[in-house]
Amino acid sequence: MKTETVKKKTGMYENVMKQFNHAADVMNLDEGVRKILSSTNNEIVVHFPVKLDNGKIEVFTGYRVQHNNALGPYKGGLRYHPTVDIDAARALAIWMTWKTALAGLPYGGGKGGIEIDPKKYSISELERITRRFTYALGENIGPDHDIPAPDVNTNAQIMAWISDFFVSTKAPGMRHTNLHVVTGKPVGSGGLAGRDRATGFGVVATIKSWAALKNKEIKGKSYIVQGFGNVGYWAAHFMNKLGAKMTAVQDASATIFNEDGIDPEELLAYAKANGGAIKGFPNAEEMNSKDFYGVDCDIAIPAALGNQITLENVDTIKASLIAEGANGPTDVAAEAKLLIRGIDVIPDILCNGGGVIGSYYEWLQNKRAENWKIDHVLSLLEEKLEASFENTVNAAKEYNTDWRTAAYIVALKRLEVTYKERGVFP
Ligand code: NAD
Repeated sequence: MKTETVKKKTGMYENVMKQFNHAADVMNLDEGVRKILSSTNNEIVVHFPVKLDNGKIEVFTGYRVQHNNALGPYKGGLRYHPTVDIDAARALAIWMTWKTALAGLPYGGGKGGIEIDPKKYSISELERITRRFTYALGENIGPDHDIPAPDVNTNAQIMAWISDFFVSTKAPGMRHTNLHVVTGKPVGSGGLAGRDRATGFGVVATIKSWAALKNKEIKGKSYIVQGFGNVGYWAAHFMNKLGAKMTAVQDASATIFNEDGIDPEELLAYAKANGGAIKGFPNAEEMNSKDFYGVDCDIAIPAALGNQITLENVDTIKASLIAEGANGPTDVAAEAKLLIRGIDVIPDILCNGGGVIGSYYEWLQNKRAENWKIDHVLSLLEEKLEASFENTVNAAKEYNTDWRTAAYIVALKRLEVTYKERGVFP
């Protein structure tokens, strides 16, 4: 990748490349494979016009970066956020390649989105923006080529619009064989029962594996959650089911605290009635957002944006475990400090892998024209994440390294073997 095109808006790209290069050094990754994986395969940037409710035209910029497809179709979410740019899309696509490889899925990595603040647009505008973005992406996405899913500020409804637009442009006989162009759809539109909670459920499954490894109880532990969206809420829901107590929550609107515990269900009901925001929740006090990671707790669950745990706040952290629900929440320099202090980090590519594993089951369900039951889905998910956790811990022992580097090594080995067996065309 040419460095002059790399913007520094989020810093996630630099972060993922540092993590990759470190793991490649530790495992002595084949030089050619390292070169291949250092680049993205395709980078699609689209500018597309949409008529707003007031009759005016606005032109939006969307991205889809396809990092690598050695193991299967590109797979990864679409994010609607002002920080989406080519740098962020690259970083998030690269993380997807490692995540799908670590989980043993037949996928590669892709990611994209629109540089937009969706709060500024009406529902009907968001629908037109989404459908026009899908049109602009054209055949660059497809059920056996590149399969988007929800990410920050995108949800099942947005996936339903993408899928509807995509299948509507196909011949009638091909419509149902194109349904799985996206995953994370509503259940009534081909979605998977349990996909909504798959990421948060998976975060908690990895925390359970951590607790079993360390001989600890989750019951009675306190935890804090940054981001109370899909991942944050469901992680809190499953943590509370295990008897843990959520003492602080931060979202884009506010940071709230209650030593006696904040009930995730009450907070969700409040946020739903408050435009999705937690600000003003009556059963907690509002606190300074800068002090969030310094709150006294056992477990911290970042479930919002990238680069949130940095040199600025890392020394204040009291938690003994960081479970990375978000992608790239901890920067490389901060992680080094956490490890010196003996704070465990369940790395994003392992911790939030439940999302893409759930997506894989939705994709299979659609391919087979079946309807799967939620209990079956959640038990398959847990099994897969337990295996990924074990593979990571074993690699950490073998290479005498930290869990993030170990998770990368498991993923990179799978990719290395594939390239060595197949060779490089021609
Ligand atoms: P979401 O849009 O449902 O929720 C995002 C939450 O983050 C919201 O509560 C929002 O208010 C909060 N937030 C935004 N900016 C913030 C800020 N500056 N400080 C604090 N909070 C802020 O998104 P999501 O799907 O829950 O995704 C959250 C994270 O998890 C992202 O990093 C995403 O890439 C990752 N992830 C999501 C999935 C999935 O299946 N949805 C899967 C794997 C990883």
